[in-house]
Parts: sequence; structure tokens; C-alpha cells
Amino acid sequence: MFGLFKGKDQIAEAKIFFGSTEATTEELDERRSPFDNTVVSKAPKCNAEDTIKALKIAQEAAKEAKKIPLSQRILWLEDVAKKLQESREDFAMMLAKEVAKPIAFARVEVDRCMETVKITAMELANLHGETLPTDLMPSGKQTTAFFRREPVGVVACITPFNFPLNLVAHKIAPALGAGNAVVLKPTPEAPMTAYMFAKLFVESEYAVKDALSVVYGDVEVGSTLVKSDIPRVLSFTGSVPVGKIITQQAGIKKISLELGGNAATYIDSSADINYAAQRCAYGAFYNSGQVCISLQRIYVNEEVYEAFSDAMAIETKKLKVGSPYEEDTFIGPMINEESVHRAKSWVASAKNEGARVVAGGDEIEGIFPPTVMADVTDEMKIVCEEVFAPIVSLVSVPNYDVAIEKMNDSPYGLQFSIFTNDLKRTQKFIDDAQCGGVVINDIPTLRFDVQPYGGSKFSGVGREGPKWALEEFTEVKSVVIC
Ligand code: NAD
Repeated sequence: MFGLFKGKDQIAEAKIFFGSTEATTEELDERRSPFDNTVVSKAPKCNAEDTIKALKIAQEAAKEAKKIPLSQRILWLEDVAKKLQESREDFAMMLAKEVAKPIAFARVEVDRCMETVKITAMELANLHGETLPTDLMPSGKQTTAFFRREPVGVVACITPFNFPLNLVAHKIAPALGAGNAVVLKPTPEAPMTAYMFAKLFVESEYAVKDALSVVYGDVEVGSTLVKSDIPRVLSFTGSVPVGKIITQQAGIKKISLELGGNAATYIDSSADINYAAQRCAYGAFYNSGQVCISLQRIYVNEEVYEAFSDAMAIETKKLKVGSPYEEDTFIGPMINEESVHRAKSWVASAKNEGARVVAGGDEIEGIFPPTVMADVTDEMKIVCEEVFAPIVSLVSVPNYDVAIEKMNDSPYGLQFSIFTNDLKRTQKFIDDAQCGGVVINDIPTLRFDVQPYGGSKFSGVGREGPKWALEEFTEVKSVVIC
């Protein structure tokens, strides 16, 4: 559909969607590849005025969107999923260009996005209310009561750079599917990816007219969406600092916040060490550690600490660092220079405070490599703050109780995991873990898109995953017939 796959060197230009109408601005923002600094896409430079225009179009569109039958909305999402499948390589290449996602993993993101849209279409059939037993109360004897779910009206969506396709899908597919109008502000790092995806919605034969608008930019556009009274739901995925600002500015509307984390695991002495090391290397370094549930802290039982540390070094050295365009690359460049600088300086300060580099540490052809740090202590930044880089820390602990105490001693609570063969310990871990999700015998980086997903503490408010997002983007209307 897009014909961009062959043209690795072609510069694609995103357009605003003011509802179903494409537009642009006089000046454009250039997006440069984090890999080779070439210009890969351009996007309109939107401002507050453009954002308000998009919001007003959405406000009008929402009045019609809620009248569109469910059958058409399901066909709409199914059609988008089908077209996405047909353009898989175009989307994968654009992810490789705009955010330097290694091409094999870029394809995985496109496939996941397709599933997210399909599952949303399936879940729509279950979005209904129920009758209520008013005759439980003597005064309700002669009444019939029920509730149903209605679209909220306008939903504003703001998304981050690390999964710039699938995280957009997690918002706009359920928001539109539920019968709302949407204004999307994607990450400034991947405007073209978002535009291509939005185009599938807008140009579908089943599209709801003007229901989706897309504006581009950073703080000005984002905060205009946040402060406006037009959206009834603001759905944000991004960092804790921006999440805090949003909480202060959003006024009276429902806010869903999917924020940062510092995911952790415990390696029990009963675990299969080689399997655990292989999976931990994947969970720590996938997408260069730029994943909200990237494995950052590994608490290892002291009995197996040396063996696990050696196995981690072996597994880490197997991962290929290089160009995002090569099929076998596991780790490409991080999103920008600033992130590389942060990663280097946090590793340097941990070394100064007594930590040891087990693998990685030094740049490979300008790319920050997968890095394993040992002898890490609790107060080091690489452990207690969100690192969002390919750096993982090993901490030796005497037993499970100490490990879970350290895991929970964090302002974040997204996902934790445990590697163990002890069933009782597994049950205790499920009870003890203070976070949104736990994984048994695999990495905390595991997310199936059908699951409820979100954090406790500063990691967020609300849950995503199609079933839960549909609830976020609708409100209950209660009815009594007397
Ligand atoms: P970010 O917070 O810098 O930016 C996210 C979005 O917010 C971007 O679109 C940005 O333009 C916009 N924005 C920035 N300032 C704003 C403001 N004042 N008002 C409104 N919008 C504003 O995050 P990022 O660097 O793109 O992504 C990385 C962060 O996202 C990490 O902390 C990561 O853990 C988190 N994240 C969380 C999840 C999750 O599901 N919990 C998923 C992916 C990423």
C-alpha cells in the first residue's frame, strides 16, 4: 500500500489528519535516523491552534461516531488489521528507519499490532452491560434496572517512542472501536509510523468519518490536549516526570497513565540457571533495554550467583550489536545521543561506587552494547532509577525474603518475575509482589497483548489490553424502568 519498503533512502512525509482530511504546515520537522543520522521522515510542525482545531473536529465527529453500529466498527478494525498485514514490510522498515528498531523485531511489533487490533475487534462483542437485581431491595420490587456502556465522546491519546506502532494501537483501536472520536499525538520520534497506521483507519471503507485526527509535536501539542476540556479521557503512555505534569494539568477528566518501571527478577537456587540466563539476556537487552518492563534488576541467590553471572556473560556476548537493517541484529542504537550519554555516565558512576562490568560497557561502533554489571548495591542509580538502556544489574542475596524486600523497595511497580522450581515459593511471590503483573519462570518483560497491563505506585494508573481499554474508553449509564 505504501511502497516504502524498497526505498530505504526515500524520505517519507507525514500529514496531519484533521478528521478525515489531510493537511500540512508550512514548516516541517525532520526526523533523523538514530543509526546513521540521515533524514528518514518529515512531519508537520503543529501548534496549539492546530491541536484545538483537531479537538473541535473530534467533538463534532463524536456525535455521529456513537451512532455507528457495532457491526461496522468491528468490520473497520478487521479491515485495518488486514491492511496492516498486507503492508507488514513497509511498517517494519519505517520502524527501523525512525527509531532504529532492528528489522526482525520491527516485524514482531507489526505482528503484535495486528493482533492487538484483531483482539480489540473480538472484545467489542463483549462490551455490554447487565441487568441488576433491584428486587434485592424491597423498594425495588416492581422495577427493572440495567446498565450499559456508552462511548465517552472524545479521547486524547499521547504515545512514546519505544513501541511507536503497537502502543498507538492499544489506544486508538479500542477508543475508536468503542464509538469515540480520537485525537492522537504520537511520539515526535516516529511521526511517519503513526501517520501510516492512521491512514489505514481513515481510508478504510468502513471508516467513521472524521473520527480520527492526528497532530504532531511535543510539549505544546501534548499539553494543549491535556489541558483541554473537550477530551473526556486522556490516555497517556510515557515517562513518570511527564506523567506527573499531566496529573497536575488535566482537570476533570478520566486519565489513564502507563508510566515507567524498573522491572526485577529473582533467581532462586532451585532454578535452571542456563535457561534463566538466556531469558534474562533477552529481557534486559531486547529493544536496547528501552522497554518499560525491561529487566533491570536481577536478584540472585548467593548459592548460584557466580554460576549465573558467568552464564549471563556468555549469553550476552552472543547478541549481535549493529545496524537495524541487518536481519540478525539484536541490539541497534538507542533512540538518541542523550540516552547514550545517560547510560555511559550511570555505568561510570556505578563503577566508581564499586560495581564490576561483567559484559559490555564500551561502545561498539557508536552503539551502546548490552552491559551486565555485578556487585551492584541498592543505592546505585542503575538499580534504583529507571535506566531505559541495555544495562542490567546483578545483586547477590542470601534468600527469597531479602530479594522480595529489595524488589518492592522501589517507587515503581510494573512487573516482576521469579525463576524457581519451588511451588510454595511461587505462591508466596504472587502474594508478596507489589506490582501490576508477575511472571513465573520467565522474564518480567513478557507481555501478551490480551492481558491486563499496567502498574502500581508511580508506574501508572489504569490498565491497558483491549478488554480493559474498552472499559476505560466507555462510561456506564445506569437505567431504571419503574
Ligand atoms: P516521554 O514521557 O518523554 O514522552 C511521551 C510522550 O509525551 C511523547 O509523545 C511526548 O511528546 C509527550 N510529552 C512530553 N511532554 C509532554 C507534556 N508536558 N504534556 C503532554 N505530553 C508531553 O516518554 P518517551 O521517552 O517517549 O518514552 C519512554 C518512557 O515511556 C519510559 O519511561 C517508559 O518506561 C515509558 N513507557 C511506559 C509504558 C507502559 O505501558 N507503562 C510503555 C512504553 C513506555
